[in-house]
Amino acid sequence: MSQKKIHVAVIGATGMVGQQYLSILSGHPWFEVTVLAASAKSAGRTYGEAVRGRWHLEKSVPEEFTGMMVIDALDIKTVKARADLVFSAISLSPDDTIKLEDAYASEGLWVVSNNSAHRNTPDVPMIIPEVNPGHLAVLKDQRRRLGKGAGGIAVKPNCSIQGFVMTLAPLYEAGWVPSNLITTNFQAVSGAGYPGQASLDVIDNCLPLPGEEHKTMTEPLKIFGRVQDGRIVQKEDLRISAHCMRVPVIHGHLSAVSLGFAGETPGMEKVISLWKEWMPLPQSLKLPSAPLQPIHVFSEPDRPQHRLDRDIEKGMAAAAGRLRECSVLDLRYTCLSHNTIRGAAGGAILTAELMTHEGYVTSRR
Ligand code: NAP
Repeated sequence: MSQKKIHVAVIGATGMVGQQYLSILSGHPWFEVTVLAASAKSAGRTYGEAVRGRWHLEKSVPEEFTGMMVIDALDIKTVKARADLVFSAISLSPDDTIKLEDAYASEGLWVVSNNSAHRNTPDVPMIIPEVNPGHLAVLKDQRRRLGKGAGGIAVKPNCSIQGFVMTLAPLYEAGWVPSNLITTNFQAVSGAGYPGQASLDVIDNCLPLPGEEHKTMTEPLKIFGRVQDGRIVQKEDLRISAHCMRVPVIHGHLSAVSLGFAGETPGMEKVISLWKEWMPLPQSLKLPSAPLQPIHVFSEPDRPQHRLDRDIEKGMAAAAGRLRECSVLDLRYTCLSHNTIRGAAGGAILTAELMTHEGYVTSRR
C-alpha cells in the first residue's frame, strides 16, 4: 500500500451517487479527492453552487468540497493531470460511457465504475470485494488490450443484487451448491438517481422495473464465474428468476429470496452460522471501508426493514433475516442492502481499497 495518498476524481460528483462518494471520501485515510467533474452544465461552478437545491444527504456538503470548482467530465487532460483514480458515477449512454472510461484508462488512470456499460465486457472484472476478489486477475489482460501505459477498469454490479449475492458466497465457500434462486426485489426510489421516477408514478404505488430484472438475473453469474484465459467465464449451474419493483422508500433494496440447492441442503442453523461467521478478504485485511461483519443476521420475524436496517455499519453491511423452510424450493429469507452506499459509492470505494492493497492502484505523484 502506497504511503502517499491516492488522488481521486469523482466523475458525476453532483448526482445521487456522486454525493455519497463525497460524503464517504471526506477524511478517507488513503484517498484524497482532487477532481470533481460532471456535465458541461455544472462545469465552471463551485461544487456548492452546482448542488444547491439538490443535495440529498442528511449530512451537509463536506466543507472541503463546497468551494472546489467542478470540471467537465470530458476534460480527460485535466483529470489525468490531477488524479490517479477515477470513480465514475455518470449517467451517460452505454456507448459514451465505454468511450469515456476507456479513454481514462488508456491515459493511465484507474477507473472504478458504477455504470452498467462495461459489466458485460469479459476482461472487465465486476467486483464485490468480499465475494470475487480473485477476478482482479483479468486486469493484466485488459491492460494489454488497452495499450502501453494503461491503467485499468473495474466495475460494480447493479445495486439490486448486492444483498443476495453476499448471502450466497459463504454457502458456496462451505461447499453447498445453490442452484435455483427466485427473488422479488423491493427497490428504493434513490436507485433511479435524481430526479428519478415522477412522484405521481411512485407514491401510493409499486412500479415494475423490467430493465432491472435482466441485470439481477445475469450479473451474479459473472460474479460467481471463473477466470480463464484472461476473461471471466460465467457460471452456468445457477438459475435465477427475478421480479423487481420500485417501492416508495428513499434508500435500500430488499430481496425476498427462495433458494434451492443441488444435492444436500444445509439446515437453517448451518446457514445462520455460515452467514454470521463469514470473514472474507476485505475483513481480514481490515480495509478502511470494510464492515466488521459483512452480513448481519436477524432472528426477529419482522426484520430486516428498509428504514431500520439499511444503515447498518454505515450502510456497508447486508442485513439478512426471516430464514424459513420453503415448500417450493429449499429455504427462503429476506436480505437488504443500501443501494447508494454498499450498492454504489461505498462498494466502489471498497473495491478501490482492495485494488490499492493488491498494488494495482498507486500514487503517480
Ligand atoms: P444522477 O443522480 O442522475 O447523477 C448523474 C450524474 O451524471 C450527475 O453528476 C450529472 O451531472 C452527470 N452527467 C449527466 N450527463 C452527463 C454528461 N453528458 N457528461 C458528464 N456528466 C454527466 O444518477 P446517479 O443515481 O447518481 O447514478 C449515476 C450512475 O451510477 C448511473 O450510471 C447509475 O446507473 C449508477 N448507479 C446508481 C445507483 C443508485 O442507487 N442511484 C446504484 C448503482 C449504480 P450534472 O449534475 O452536471 O447533470
